[in-house]
Amino acid sequence: MDAASCCRVFSTQRCRFPLRRLAAPLPRRPLCSEPTSEPFAASTSKRRSRGPVMAAKKAAQGAKQEEGKYKHTVDLPKTSFGLRANSIMREPELQKLWEENQVLKRVSERNTGATFVLHDGPPYANGDLHMGHALNKILKDIINRYKSMDKETLNALTPIKLRQKAAKFAKATVTTQMNSFKRFGVWADWDNPYLTLSPEYEASQLEVFGQMVMKGYIYRGRKPVHWSPSSRTALAEAELEYSENHISKSIYAAFKVTNLSNPALLEEFLPNLCLAIWTTTPWTIPANAAVAVNPELTYAVVELQSVLQSESKSGGNQRKLGNMLSSESRKPFIIVAADLVSALESKWGMKLVIQKSFPGSALEHCRYIHPVNGNECSVVLGGDYITTESGTGLVHTAPGHGQEDYLTGLKYGLPIVSPVDDEGNFTAEAGQFSGLSVLGTGNAAVVKYLDEQCNLILEEPYKHKYPYDWRSKEPTIFRATEQWFASVDGFRNAAMDAIRRVSWFPSQAENRIVAMTSSRSDWCISRQRTWGVPIPVFYHVDSQEPLITEETIEHIKGIVSKKGSDAWWYMTIEDLLPEKYRDKASEYRKGTDTMDVWFDSGSSWAAVLAKRDGLNFPADVYLEGSDQHRGWFQSSLLTSIATTGKAPYSSVITHGFVLDEKGFKMSKSLGNVVDPEKVIVGGKNSKEEPGYGADVLRLWVSSVDYTGDVLVGPQILRQMSEMYRKLRGTMRFLLSNLHDWKPENSIPYSDLPKIDKYALFQLENVVTSMKDSYENYQFYKIYQILQRFAIVDLSNFYFDVAKDRLYVGGRVSFTRKSCQTVLSAHLLYLVRAIAPIMPHLAEDVWQNLPFQHILDDGSVAEYVFNLKWPVRNEEWLSVPKDDVDFLGVILELRSEVNKILESARTGKLIGSSLDAKVYLHAENVNTVSKLKELASANNDADALHRLFITSQVEILPSLSEETKSGVSNAGTFSDERTGNIWIGVTRADGEKCERCWNYTRDVGSFLDHPTLCARCHGVIDLPPVPAAAAVS
Ligand SMILES: [Zn+2]
Repeated sequence: MDAASCCRVFSTQRCRFPLRRLAAPLPRRPLCSEPTSEPFAASTSKRRSRGPVMAAKKAAQGAKQEEGKYKHTVDLPKTSFGLRANSIMREPELQKLWEENQVLKRVSERNTGATFVLHDGPPYANGDLHMGHALNKILKDIINRYKSMDKETLNALTPIKLRQKAAKFAKATVTTQMNSFKRFGVWADWDNPYLTLSPEYEASQLEVFGQMVMKGYIYRGRKPVHWSPSSRTALAEAELEYSENHISKSIYAAFKVTNLSNPALLEEFLPNLCLAIWTTTPWTIPANAAVAVNPELTYAVVELQSVLQSESKSGGNQRKLGNMLSSESRKPFIIVAADLVSALESKWGMKLVIQKSFPGSALEHCRYIHPVNGNECSVVLGGDYITTESGTGLVHTAPGHGQEDYLTGLKYGLPIVSPVDDEGNFTAEAGQFSGLSVLGTGNAAVVKYLDEQCNLILEEPYKHKYPYDWRSKEPTIFRATEQWFASVDGFRNAAMDAIRRVSWFPSQAENRIVAMTSSRSDWCISRQRTWGVPIPVFYHVDSQEPLITEETIEHIKGIVSKKGSDAWWYMTIEDLLPEKYRDKASEYRKGTDTMDVWFDSGSSWAAVLAKRDGLNFPADVYLEGSDQHRGWFQSSLLTSIATTGKAPYSSVITHGFVLDEKGFKMSKSLGNVVDPEKVIVGGKNSKEEPGYGADVLRLWVSSVDYTGDVLVGPQILRQMSEMYRKLRGTMRFLLSNLHDWKPENSIPYSDLPKIDKYALFQLENVVTSMKDSYENYQFYKIYQILQRFAIVDLSNFYFDVAKDRLYVGGRVSFTRKSCQTVLSAHLLYLVRAIAPIMPHLAEDVWQNLPFQHILDDGSVAEYVFNLKWPVRNEEWLSVPKDDVDFLGVILELRSEVNKILESARTGKLIGSSLDAKVYLHAENVNTVSKLKELASANNDADALHRLFITSQVEILPSLSEETKSGVSNAGTFSDERTGNIWIGVTRADGEKCERCWNYTRDVGSFLDHPTLCARCHGVIDLPPVPAAAAVS
């Protein structure tokens, strides 16, 4: 808006509307004053609410203004709280304020209610912090800060997961991370973090282990486990990363049948009958112990006929036919699953003619010749894992190299052969392959050997999902070794029961953990590493029998609690053994295995929750990424169930992963990584990477539905910063209009105008909804509620309307005080409602509070976190439903009126909305009486023209055609509750008051102040001017 339109000289334009008396004749100088905050300023509201406010704005912009005569009587907003956050400077100041005054500690001490424990987990690997950390830590902090306001104790635990060998390095990393978390505004007991390498922690972990031993849940066995040749250790499922693009050398091979269990069935095909198998790990063939079939499937003997030339050559790429097919010799009969015959025809490029079909069960106990060692082996019955989705329907079974093979092997008493050493090379047991790497030359050698022996049907590369070592990023293998296991079977039912008693957010997470827990095999807890907590076991030098008893564990635990687990490595066996065994020390050696890191972190409930004062077991909440269903959530559950019979948590919240704005995974190579530090303090180029401050980052965290994967990028952050600015503007409006407020000025609720009661009614409902959403950890709902409330209910309506009452209603008038009563309630409620999400903004508001807020105990609330969540105000909810409904309708009507005002403005009939008069006509009798009631409200707040921000509103008893045709700006509001309401807009009657810009007929009737309306005349509180002087 420009100066010309502000000081508009009204044109000579005449309205032909018969009710209109006269056009305003005189230009008025607007009042000028201090700039004000106009949060949000939606375009319509901006144009409509010009007047003193806009004049002031103009003045601030430097437009030359003559001082208004009544300027000093206008109560413009005032505050030291800036519209610009300047977060990069301000947030660290506020954090320092909290730290220096030990605000967190004092908050915790004041809380006397139940303790709330959010047990912070250690699952993130050390290193640079990324948005995943920010999401995780800020979600926890929002919960903690909310709980601290909700009469409960704040207990944020500080996470550390140490996976490095060097404690010094790990501790340095932890310090760096902590500083970043502090900058995010995360409150925690930073002085007392728990370190998984502290002696107390390690001792607690040994105690958990010891209890599991005593309950018989720990055993040693030779079983196939995930093995990393590159790290030379066993790995747990949670230590694997699955590569989608791994390419294996897959082969189809044929094993020659020697004996039939039912000779009548297939005798005709002997001695030229073979079993066809398919494998992606040819190196496991030397360890073959059986071929398994599914008794439920139908199998067929097929005859290999002519090579289908086109097929065998197409897709020729790296596919290679074995000698068995390409040689001219007589082709054997081959057994495969009947359903796979046509697929195999095209795969092998060969016509397969079915000679006979029979059930899989008929093959049990058939014998075949081992293709490498020449021994006779058996066909066995496997389970559902044998399908016709791929392969041949017959499964090469090596119990030393596969979980299902192992179980099938147990059933048939098959040998567990695993001729592979720690580095992934064949051992002497593998004969001619000895010394070769199973993932390299050894694999190729096996294939070559099979081909030479005419066992190979076809070889081809095969792309599939394959487990890699999460540390070395190298492929792993399945390999049977002697390991320590926790028998999940021993307490699986108890675990399943406990899962059902835990609250899972989102609820689908329960299905995930149920599926993972019900199907998981025994937990291999031993690792072949030189760091970590040792498995406290001695082995008899001769018999290799392990020595592990209550006394040995207890003794070692005592040592570790004082000296740390390093003692296991440097102390002698004599000293590590309890008294009773000491004289036999020479007969024993120390075990060198350490515990799975998931056993370390899975024991945190025992080391922290159960040990530290003021904490509870179980914890109220565990909150981590959804990958922890197979990680920390599960390892914690298993150790806790095994030893205490209870889950270590009452609720578990999971969040998804952070992706870029387009939904892609963030990676350095794609250049789409969002760095939380940069979001807070900005990058090198502040235009491209502005620093938004921690609260904008936190607002983003609150805005996303974190139960799935979440998106972030420059565009989204800009939106967040815009929303932050709007919320800041809302808070600034409240602060600045309460600059002269004192709580004792409050107007009693029963005396408040309807519109003020309605505002408090909405406030109470909004805050209640926000509380529900905090309780249910659905922060994105709070974000949505806040956005709507601040923009639609406050900025576009209540604040918009309030300006007249606040600025020109009179400093000590009822209308201003009543409005301030409502605004102070909004300030005190909203500052608390936003504090968990935007603590810096809330504290900044609080530090600029223009009045003192006294707490229940009589003390002054110095910091926002001294406050508790607002107590539900039943009185505010007592507005009659009829009034609530009708005011709701009025707001809709107001939108319609605004549209017509806007078109009148565009048509140059009016400048500001105060230049207008609104006519309403309703047919519904009830509507008419209610509109009349509001139109004639004498409290200067409820009056309809105030709600519309026009100078007048008149309810027409009837609507003639003449009236209709005389009004060029008109429209109709239709609603089933009110019937049709006709709306017409003309210029206002009377003259414009110099002070408030409202048009009234009484301007000019006061001799002492001829340019003022009656309201302004009554509130300016100036010394009376003698009538004579005025006349002269
Ligand atoms: Zn006035």
